[in-house]
Amino acid sequence: MSEIKYDWTKDEIIAIYRKPMMELLYEAASVHREYHNPNVVQVSTLLSIKTGGCPEDCGYCPQAARYHTDIEGNDLMTVQHVKAQALRAKASGSSRVCMGAAWRNVKDGEEFDQVLEMVRTINKLDMEVCCTLGMITENQAKRLAEAGLYAYNHNLDTSEDYYKDVISTRAYQDRLDTIGNVRKTNVTVCSGGIIGMGEKLEDRAGMLVALASLNPQPESVPINALVAVEGTPMEDIEPISIWEMIRMVATTRIVMPMTQVRLSAGRTQMSREGQAMCFFAGANSIFAGDKLLTTPNPDVNEDMEMFDLLGLIPQKPFLKKDQPQTVEAEDSQFESLGEKPKWTRPGHSIERNETAKSKSSVDH
Ligand code: SF4
Repeated sequence: MSEIKYDWTKDEIIAIYRKPMMELLYEAASVHREYHNPNVVQVSTLLSIKTGGCPEDCGYCPQAARYHTDIEGNDLMTVQHVKAQALRAKASGSSRVCMGAAWRNVKDGEEFDQVLEMVRTINKLDMEVCCTLGMITENQAKRLAEAGLYAYNHNLDTSEDYYKDVISTRAYQDRLDTIGNVRKTNVTVCSGGIIGMGEKLEDRAGMLVALASLNPQPESVPINALVAVEGTPMEDIEPISIWEMIRMVATTRIVMPMTQVRLSAGRTQMSREGQAMCFFAGANSIFAGDKLLTTPNPDVNEDMEMFDLLGLIPQKPFLKKDQPQTVEAEDSQFESLGEKPKWTRPGHSIERNETAKSKSSVDH
């Protein structure tokens, strides 16, 4: 296998992205075959364990409390509810459950203890458990690891430059700090982004430079296409073309050969042919379930039909890394420190986010 390269430059990545399509596909598919079985695709289930009411201002997100969107918020799910959903997901071919809570950051306390119990419960079902809970401290990452967490998701979203046009309530470095805290444990890192938010090609490349320069590179990189939701600052942005998605997937595959590249939000807008091209270009995971946190997603039966049609096999859990051991709460080596992560408040404002916020207060 060829050596992993960590020092990609933006120009090198742009040159790959812009290759003639047939060459790009050939190169990406060749890298893919070197490191992965091209017929195996992981099915992951995303569960929104706490929806809505988030204090952040991510311009794409209907869960930000400040925008007026139609999503129904809910309090933290019970462990029993999560277990039932995980069992359903397992029965329909998922090997991984990703639990998302619309929090800025984790706060030590009852709710975090409840999430730790969810992690223990799902790990004991022999499924990979991933969490996306916002910023976390090193101690919180260690407690999650001890409970049996397999992966922690924290997306960089876009390039550092364009980030300032998407989010004003925290800085890029805060994201990197959380990823750094996860790396102090044996939990794997899941971090990717969203394309089609009005960014330039340089920003897509900039995000890939930031991800690929992490050593080790993230084990998992989700590539989302923006799903523009009414009421968010990005509601009027037109969907990107499938060709952009294929190019982004292929480029990600080439610069991060070992990672699982996840075809994430935006699949409802893609034809089966388009998705097949993404698999050919190196995508090796999809999210199942009729909702992706709050936005629509293809039905799981439709996905299984697509797998049959393409001869794809759902990936078994723990294929890339051993299953973590779960330590029960009473045997934990770590205490709750009553802490929450520190983060910077960059202090700039983003016009379209402000406009969406003021529209929402007029509507109320
Ligand atoms: S993307 Fe996450 S952090 Fe940003 S507003 Fe939505 S739930 Fe909050």
